[in-house]
Amino acid sequence: MGLSGLAIYKLLPKTNCKECGFPTCLAFAMKLAQKQVELSACPYVSEEAQAALAAASAPPIRLITVGSGDNKIEVGNETVMFRHEKTFFHPPGIFVRVKDTQPLAEVEETVTQVDGYLVERVGIDLSLNGIAVEHASGQADTFAACVEAVRGKTQRPLILIADDPAAMKAGLEKLNGSSPLLYAATADNWEAMAALAKEYKVPVVAYAPDGDLTALANLTEQIKGAGVEDIVLDPGTRGFADSLAALTQLRRLALKKNFRALGYPVITFPGEGADSEAEEVMLAGEHIAKYAGFIVLDHFDPATAYILLTMRLNIYTDPQKPIQVSPGIYEINGPGPDSPLLTTTNFSLTYFSVAGEVDGSAVPSWLLICDSEGMSVLTAWAAGNFDAEVIAKAVKTFGVESKINHHKIVIPGFVAVISGELEEELPGWEVRVGPREAVDIPAYLKNVWN
Ligand code: SF4
Repeated sequence: MGLSGLAIYKLLPKTNCKECGFPTCLAFAMKLAQKQVELSACPYVSEEAQAALAAASAPPIRLITVGSGDNKIEVGNETVMFRHEKTFFHPPGIFVRVKDTQPLAEVEETVTQVDGYLVERVGIDLSLNGIAVEHASGQADTFAACVEAVRGKTQRPLILIADDPAAMKAGLEKLNGSSPLLYAATADNWEAMAALAKEYKVPVVAYAPDGDLTALANLTEQIKGAGVEDIVLDPGTRGFADSLAALTQLRRLALKKNFRALGYPVITFPGEGADSEAEEVMLAGEHIAKYAGFIVLDHFDPATAYILLTMRLNIYTDPQKPIQVSPGIYEINGPGPDSPLLTTTNFSLTYFSVAGEVDGSAVPSWLLICDSEGMSVLTAWAAGNFDAEVIAKAVKTFGVESKINHHKIVIPGFVAVISGELEEELPGWEVRVGPREAVDIPAYLKNVWN
């Protein structure tokens, strides 16, 4: 169990100096007990107190790293049950499984497709995280050859799936220390698997069947006792209801009860609980929301990968920090002095929707992006972050008048109400009310502007 806020308070300097950002040491202690701040925020904690507070300040879900270099993925360190309480920090790694019983050419083709899959959304590049290689052949040499072929096609993180420690070792030998995740240590093989994890300094999955969390906790304690700190959990549940219940219980035990034996990320295999590819995607979506750390898919399809990556992006975006683009004047389709000038907010989704439609219209245009603190049009208007004053200020700040030889500006239809005020803020300008929806911009530019 972690320390209570009062127990932590007794170990703090009690000077109320406020340097941690809280008005009192007691307020800081309460936040520390709730895992909502880092102990390092207080620069005056003594070494003695630091040691005593280590348990209280340690993350309730251990951070696990798989892979190395730019492609590595880190999972864990989550502190809340629901993203609106703060945010979720480390998006689950999404992997695609291949088996060593498949022809190597087929394996290599899948790996090449997964490795090269890259899509952009709201200015952010999205890709899958890695490959899981399964030892299904029963032959250690075959598994090693498959691992080698996979590594030859991607530097992304790998998960090695094998029950047999000898096969696992043969696979590990092909990876030159690039830190894969081992799947899995069970009640039968944990000593050998833990020894491999320790020898190669890699994380290992602890597996217990049928959602038996007591057995899972016992197994992680045994693995930890063998000297392995980096553990991932597989509670053995595969369906919609049982995996939701098990993953929720695991998260609650780690966060609410500070139960260290289960304070690790979880791996899931949605394809094993689904009757179809579509169901696999739905189950993977459930696991993204609650509460997988690693998700191993059995199928790769660019269309469904896009759905899952978008969902992951949405859920792991900090709800208190909307994704924003920089305010400024953007050129689309090579505009000149006579080109139309449109304006909107700097909420990423708004920017990319508007910019995409303007781009698609092929009409050279200027797009003035105002600093609306990352809010969408109506929200920003309601909050006073996208009113006549803000737009007029952006016109002046970004030197719009030096780029165009007309004085016309198109505002989003949703804020038509500010057109009069904007004309007052920008004397001599004509304010035109554009469409409400971005999708109507091309027709507006072609038919109304001209
Ligand atoms: Fe107390 Fe440390 Fe915060 Fe100062 S920085 S108020 S000593 S907890």
